[in-house]
Amino acid sequence: MEASLGIHMDQPMAFSPRRRDQVQVDGSLKKHEQNFKLPGVKKDIEKLYEAVPQLGNLFKIKDKIGEGTFSSVYLATAQLRVGPEEKIALKHLIPTSHPIRIAAELQCLTVAGGQDNVMGVKYCFRKNDHVVIAMPYLEHESFLDILNSLSFQEVREYMFNLFKALKRIHQFGIVHRDVKPSNFLFNRRLKKYALVDFGLAQGTHDTKIELLKFVQSEAQQESCSQNKSHVITGNKISLSGPAAPKELDQQPTMKTSVKRPYTNAQTQIKQGKDGKEGSVGLSVQRSVFGERNFNIHSSISHESPAVKLMKQSKTMDVLSRKLATKKKAISTKVMNSGVMRKTASSCPASLTCDCYATDKVCSICLSRRQQVAPRAGTPGFRAPEVLTKCPNQTTAIDMWSAGVIFLSLLSGRYPFYKASDDLTALAQIMTIRGSRETIQAAKTFGKSILCSKEVPAQDLRKLCEKLRGIDSNTPQLTSDTQGPASHDPSFSEKTDHKASHLIQTPQALPSGNSLCKGDSNGCGRGLNMDTADLEGWNEVPDEAYDLLDKLLDLNPASRITAEEALLHPFFKDMSL
Ligand code: ADP
Ligand code: MG
Ligand code: ZN
Repeated sequence: MEASLGIHMDQPMAFSPRRRDQVQVDGSLKKHEQNFKLPGVKKDIEKLYEAVPQLGNLFKIKDKIGEGTFSSVYLATAQLRVGPEEKIALKHLIPTSHPIRIAAELQCLTVAGGQDNVMGVKYCFRKNDHVVIAMPYLEHESFLDILNSLSFQEVREYMFNLFKALKRIHQFGIVHRDVKPSNFLFNRRLKKYALVDFGLAQGTHDTKIELLKFVQSEAQQESCSQNKSHVITGNKISLSGPAAPKELDQQPTMKTSVKRPYTNAQTQIKQGKDGKEGSVGLSVQRSVFGERNFNIHSSISHESPAVKLMKQSKTMDVLSRKLATKKKAISTKVMNSGVMRKTASSCPASLTCDCYATDKVCSICLSRRQQVAPRAGTPGFRAPEVLTKCPNQTTAIDMWSAGVIFLSLLSGRYPFYKASDDLTALAQIMTIRGSRETIQAAKTFGKSILCSKEVPAQDLRKLCEKLRGIDSNTPQLTSDTQGPASHDPSFSEKTDHKASHLIQTPQALPSGNSLCKGDSNGCGRGLNMDTADLEGWNEVPDEAYDLLDKLLDLNPASRITAEEALLHPFFKDMSL
């Protein structure tokens, strides 16, 4: 049974044809160039035409521009009309995706998308279990490529536009759950922005996206009553119910009578995202907290307690709960506090055990069922309440992620946090925001964190300036003006030395150099980089760090909202 549907919408953005070599893939231009040569891409395109034949009548698929665990994204041109070709992004969702997940993603795009920097949708196609979402194509930069060439004003605009998008989706009760640079497309030349990828989105309790209610109820069921059978099964979902929005109402495509094996969307997505990011991480060696850092035997003798905490919490992988008796010294442990036990009565827990308030894990705890809470997203962007599996997660988690992006922009480091497990990620957060502060905040959402070493909170300005290579005493860049790394102050020897108690960078240099060479898209990098870097960077106002502080508020209840952020003095002369 074949069905295709065009949800015709006004084109929400201006798209003009551009040079092909400017097209960016998730990470690097290089990767994209390789794609052209890969016979695999050609094969994938052929397969897609075969799987969804109606695409052939409408589009010319040119290239694969993104590949994740749950989708592949292609660049196509529309052959519908006379006149200039229109560029389209075709997102082919993997056939095993849960129908409700697909439908919810689509509904986010159709209902909330198309304005305020939220990606819209033009058409949706389905044949059997293959679903393809056609969106306006927004050519975009690789975050890593431009990170250190952005002027301070550009950073301001970037964040402002991100908050605009977040305000929009949060108004609809959408929690994106995967806010990160590769999901916020940025066209520097056109100053265009688009929040994409609602593949992990969930709804607030009062969400206006009907289908997200089902997505959320699914997660809730998983978290607290695993014995109950799922109300929603793959072949019962219909978008034509009375509550479905108009556009979707008319969609024969999504009236899924397709039988698919029921998959636990939550778990699957979580694992997939982790896996995907892991592979991205391999090519990126500039994070402040890199996975590899844990394995480097530093020659630096004056390590901060922070580094020690990180290293040891890595060896103390508490989630695996096996190493509790080995390599102790410092551990991080998260437990439901008394408060939580009272509120989450459907998740019973025996009150005390042998290990309560110690850094050991007793046999009673080892036999406990793992608490499941929505935890999708990318480790380095996860908010503390996500990392500690707080079941009540709100739109505030997206604001934390935006804060992590802002931290990258201000410090010039991406990814900033990189950890393979939640407790390592939590330890990394502690080294920036303070262990006492983190523990205190976790209490407010019913979690108690045990950490055997206290690490102080860092001054955000000092931290960012150090990492960026700006000396706060002398308001100018401390980097050398010669050599391949000169336009990237974060790689200067001086900077590495200064920041050595925080980052261990011996392997960052080659990556930095190759990045510089790899940049050929003419978006502002080059000879005048030092000037570009100085543009505003020597006088970052306090408001920037005040906003960062409010975004990285460990307590989700007091964390700044998107609406409030737009009104923050940091954006004083900017209008919506
Ligand atoms: P995934 O769930 O696999 O991460 P995304 O929706 O995030 O899927 O898309 C993956 C990548 O494809 C994005 O990071 C971006 O590079 C590219 N992409 C997605 N949508 C568009 C679009 N509308 N225009 C241009 N590129 C896009
Ligand atoms: Mg994505
Ligand atoms: Zn115990």
